[in-house]
Parts: sequence; C-alpha cells; structure tokens
Amino acid sequence: MTRLPDTPEIAIVGGGIVGLVLAAGLTRRGVQVKLFEQARNFREIGAGIGFTRNTVNCMEKISPGIVRALRSGGSVNVSLDETDPKSYLRYINGYGLQSEDDPMYQKPLLRLDAGVKGWETVRRDQFLDDLVKEIPEGVIHLQKKLSMIVDEEGQDKVVLQFTDGTSVEADAVIAADGIKSTTRKLLLGEDNPASYPQYSHKVAYRALIPMDKVAAAIGEYKTHKQHMHVGPNAHLIHYPVNTNTIGATVVVSDPNDWPLDKPTTTPGSRKDVLEALENWSLPVRNLVDLFPEQLDRWALFDLAEYPVPKYNKGRVCLVGDAAHASSPHHGAGASFGVEDVLCLCTMIPEQTGQFVREREVSKGDALRVAFETYNKIRRTRTQWLVNSSRRVCDLFQQPDWADPAKRVKAESCFEEVKDRSFQIWHFDSSKMEEDTIRDYRESVGR
Ligand code: FAD
Repeated sequence: MTRLPDTPEIAIVGGGIVGLVLAAGLTRRGVQVKLFEQARNFREIGAGIGFTRNTVNCMEKISPGIVRALRSGGSVNVSLDETDPKSYLRYINGYGLQSEDDPMYQKPLLRLDAGVKGWETVRRDQFLDDLVKEIPEGVIHLQKKLSMIVDEEGQDKVVLQFTDGTSVEADAVIAADGIKSTTRKLLLGEDNPASYPQYSHKVAYRALIPMDKVAAAIGEYKTHKQHMHVGPNAHLIHYPVNTNTIGATVVVSDPNDWPLDKPTTTPGSRKDVLEALENWSLPVRNLVDLFPEQLDRWALFDLAEYPVPKYNKGRVCLVGDAAHASSPHHGAGASFGVEDVLCLCTMIPEQTGQFVREREVSKGDALRVAFETYNKIRRTRTQWLVNSSRRVCDLFQQPDWADPAKRVKAESCFEEVKDRSFQIWHFDSSKMEEDTIRDYRESVGR
C-alpha cells in the first residue's frame, strides 16, 4: 500500500512477536514505521508456542503475511490426528500409580474442544524467522536500545533516545519491549512497583524432543496430542510443534524469592525436574527422562501483583508483555498482544487520518486519542488474563491431587478451567473492532 500524506510515523520499540506483528500490520496500512530492537539479531528460543483459532483470525485481519509466516514456520494442529481435524486440549491426572494392571494408565479429566484447527502450535524461532521476512526493508533497526523518550506538550514530535547516543523522532511510540519494559519504567517512574515484573513463584523447564522417542516413552496416542498432566505443586504440558517434534514444559512451584537483579534463567538439570516429580506417574517420568541433562530454569514473572494502571501516556503506549505480562498457564500471552495490535490497527491510520483531515489536528493529537481508546478497550480483558493465568495454575497444581480423600474435590476445578479457557478462545474480535471505532469517534466528537 502506498503511504498517504497524513499517515503518521510510528516508532515501535521491541522486535519480539508482538512488535513484529505490529510492524507487519501498520506497514500493510501504509504507515511509516521504524522498529528498534536492542539485540544484534532476532532471537526466539527453540520452544513451542500455540495460538487459538481466534488469534489466527486476528493475525489474518492484521496482515495475512503473519499467518503465512506461522504456516511456513511449520505450524501444526495441536492434535495431530488424521481422522479428526479438531483441536482438543486434554487434561489428565499426572500423579501416582493409577492402575495396578497398567502403570502407563492416566485418568482423563477434561477434554476441551477448540474446534477445527482450533489451536495451532509452532516452534517460536521458526515462526519469528519467517515473520521477519514479512516486514518491508528499511523498517527494522537492530542494536538500538531505547534509553529515554521525550514527549513534550507543544512539540510536534516525540523523541526517542538510544544508549548509543543517537536519537530519532516520530509522531508516536508504541512499545512492545516485553516484560522488563524500559518504556513502562519511563512512563510510570522508577518508584512505581508496577514498573517492575513480579515473581509468580513458579519455574519452568522446557525441552524439544523428537517425536519417535516420545512415542516410546508415553505411547503413540499421547505423543500426537496436546496433554496437560496435573498434580501437586507442578504440571507438565506437551504438544507437537511440527510433524516430528514435541515441545514439553514442566512448571514447578517455588516458595523462594527470586530477586529482580538475578538473571531470569539460571542453570538447572533434568535431575531437579525428576526430584520435583517424584511419585508422579510413569509416562510423566519417562518423558522427563528425555529432557537434556542440563536445562535452563526459567523464573516465571508477571505483572499480577502491581498491574499497570494505564497503558498510555501522551503519544506513547504499551502493548503485549510490556503492558500485561502474564504467567504462561493459559498459553495466551502473545495472543493477547496480537489482539492489542488489532485494536490499534483498527484506528491507525484510517480513523486517525480522518480526524487529522476533518479537524486539522496534528497527527500526534489524533494518536493521543487512539492510545486513550486502546487503553479503554484493552485493559480490563488483558488484566483478567494475568489474574486468570495464576488462578488456573493454582488449580492445575492443587496439593489436594496427592490426597486420595480430596481427589474428587480437586477434580471439581474443571468447570472453572473450561469457563476461563472459553473466555480466551471465544473472544469476538469483530465486536472489539466495532467498539474501538465507536469509542474513537465518540472521543473526537464524530
Ligand atoms: P518479547 O517477546 O519479550 O519481546 C520484547 C522485545 O523487546 C525483545 O526482543 C527485547 O530484546 C526488546 N527490548 C526490550 N527492551 C528494549 C529496549 N530498551 N530497546 C529496544 N528493544 C528492547 N503465549 C501464547 O500466546 N501462546 C503460548 O502458547 C505461550 N506459551 C508460553 C510458554 C511459556 C513457558 C512462556 C514463558 C510464555 C508463553 N507465552 C505464550 C507468552 C509469550 O511468550 C509472550 O507473551 C510473548 O512472547 C511476549 O511477546 P512481546 O513481543 O510482547 O515481548
């Protein structure tokens, strides 16, 4: 699309999934975009990530190139089952010996139907590699670490300053700089606890394992289908990330503190995981036996204790993890960032451009209103996700799973798990687009 004369110049900070999806969406709409990423290269870890049908629909609306990247990155249905194209999320008992006759038996607890191709899973690194290819040349600027934003009333442009001493101007800044967002700290101030992520007292261990090895460890059926194994103080999730690899994550409770100045990942080992899963069922322990001996121990931080009070200030706004970093137990953090992007792309540049033309306001002023609208539309839902992720993790990891007398009580959690999952999957993105346009127009008196 050719650039319209009144389309704004937007600076995006951060080139993770959300920043790149935003760059793809805005450039497709003719907006002049500069994306600044602190790293030398785009990097995602080799682990799995999943997106619901609803999120893939949002990607399609933002830019079909994003879905193209997802598919060329090798995405698969979370249930690799040639006889049934539907995606199911399966919850099973992961703890203890469950049948004297068959040590591999695990009791099914809940099967959630996400519809035809309702969950697509992919290797993060492969998706990101292909997503970068969808961004037009000249947009991405690597090794640019944001240090300061100057957004002064009365000045035509916002100024971004980088640690290498350079600076650039833009009509507005959208920050997708992740859970440790510099921009969030600049907006809220160093003394505000919401400027910093908080430890959720869970650690994760992740591995990618060849499918043929997994089949021998847990059986063919489970290998080809996503399963969440629940039990006391831990859970294990695995799913195919392409046609020959399984992504597996074990999440373990950790009563200790994790200071913010400590690296988020520290060295761990398979032995640590096996110790945490002592007395768990045989398939779970067999699968963990296939993890590499040396593993990263990922501390899971989020923004649950001190939610960000407002996602925008002046001509700057926060999206994705920078605004609402969540623990990963719904598998929806990036998906909610994609919804944020759709909300912004609904207004920029069409609604903002119309406002500029009709009222002769500056592009910056039109974007201020767009960011106010974005905050209004997105904050409640995204902060619900942060809370709900912690809640479902508590349900998956109830200590009661270990107590035969309390097993029935523990199992009663699944109606709640279902309701919370549906709240994510059955989101009406068309209604969000309508609400966004209506609210924007009301705010500018149209
Ligand atoms: P990030 O990916 O963190 O990107 C931020 C970028 O900003 C980085 O590239 C960083 O280098 C850059 N940056 C930071 N500071 C600066 C600066 N000052 N200047 C310039 N650049 C800067 N979500 C799902 O939707 N589905 C799932 O299945 C799923 N599974 C998950 C499993 C686990 C174990 C975890 C931990 C998370 C999971 N998530 C999932 C959540 C998802 O990973 C995140 O929500 C998502 O990656 C956040 O993307 P982002 O672009 O907002 O931030």
